[in-house]
Amino acid sequence: MKALCYNSVKDLRVENVPDPEIISPKDMIVRVTLSSVCGSDLHIINGFIPAVKAGDVLGHEFMGEVVETGRDVKKFVKGDRVVVASVIACGECHYCNQQTYSLCDNSNPNAYLPEKMFGDTLAGIYGYTHAFGGYAGSHAQYIRIPFADNGAFKVPEGLQDDSVIFCSDAFPTGYMAADMANIKPGSVVAVWGAGGVGQMAMQSAYLLGAERVIAIDREAYRLRVAIEKSKAETLNFTEVDVLEALKDLTGGRGPDCCIDAVGMESSGTGIGYAYDKAKQWARMENDRPLVLRDAIMACRKGGTVSIVGVYSGFADKIPMGAAMNKALTFRMGQMHGPKYIPRLLEHVQNGDVDPSFLVTHKMGLHQGQQGYDMFTQKEDNCMRVVFDPQKSLQPA
Ligand SMILES: [Zn+2]
Ligand SMILES: [Zn+2]
Repeated sequence: MKALCYNSVKDLRVENVPDPEIISPKDMIVRVTLSSVCGSDLHIINGFIPAVKAGDVLGHEFMGEVVETGRDVKKFVKGDRVVVASVIACGECHYCNQQTYSLCDNSNPNAYLPEKMFGDTLAGIYGYTHAFGGYAGSHAQYIRIPFADNGAFKVPEGLQDDSVIFCSDAFPTGYMAADMANIKPGSVVAVWGAGGVGQMAMQSAYLLGAERVIAIDREAYRLRVAIEKSKAETLNFTEVDVLEALKDLTGGRGPDCCIDAVGMESSGTGIGYAYDKAKQWARMENDRPLVLRDAIMACRKGGTVSIVGVYSGFADKIPMGAAMNKALTFRMGQMHGPKYIPRLLEHVQNGDVDPSFLVTHKMGLHQGQQGYDMFTQKEDNCMRVVFDPQKSLQPA
């Protein structure tokens, strides 16, 4: 089959790779109908995450059709339309029993890598480097789904692929960000990053009772989308002092909940940015935590900082004094997909949220590098590029 593979930094290529096969009785094989780019792929493609090798198939946000099931798969039969959680989890271990699926003890065959990097094993993630299991990703015609009964979900009749695909990753990530943020009726929620995850966090904040949502980004078009689709007030950090503006918008108090939907490649202005960029280049610090710093400084006393933007290593100049003395709560993590996906599919079915506005560009796999470039450069008002791996693979 054809798949979009990592070759080297910023060099993706379509390659012929072996078709996936059932390895364990709990596996199934899915024919991929849509597979999305994700901001966290950029950390890999841009060379900030080690443990990626030439030939690795990227992609972790996807949906498709079941073509083969292992003998222990109970929930699915051939022909079912499914959306699959980007995080792979066994469904049976101590952590899965608590619905903290991204902490699964059993789904990462390369457990020793995160053990070395993070002090413990972590769940596998499709197409997300060898540290997260080395699983083949979804930018491919077919994909193997381990622990299929736990990770895959039947798509309700009548829903379009474009409305469903983000239930794989961006929507549960954004929803979990809001879920962790201690939102109460009347809360003001600030969300840094108005990309796919950020937009889903904004809409989820309203689902969970927020009164106001404030979106912070540098891209005018993304802020427009935040206003139009996610009912947010907006701040462009290239135009205003975000900390001052947030105080002004909240009667001098600061937001109750601050969500970091950006992570380690955050950009900014001024001396802090130049400092981080220089250190990141020198590999002395691998995360640029501008958003995290702002979120901590902006958050009201006793508020919550919720982090779903990805960090991979060490970050410095974190204002711990502010965090400690203001009695902030920190919550964070890779998303626990299977905990949230069923209720998110219901929200889509009920029309509460329709994530299809995130699909701004559709391409074949052969346009993979172009798609990621467009997404990275934020060309043509790009929110998300999604690939249709069944589309003609020949360049036009
Ligand atoms: Zn993702
Ligand atoms: Zn588990």
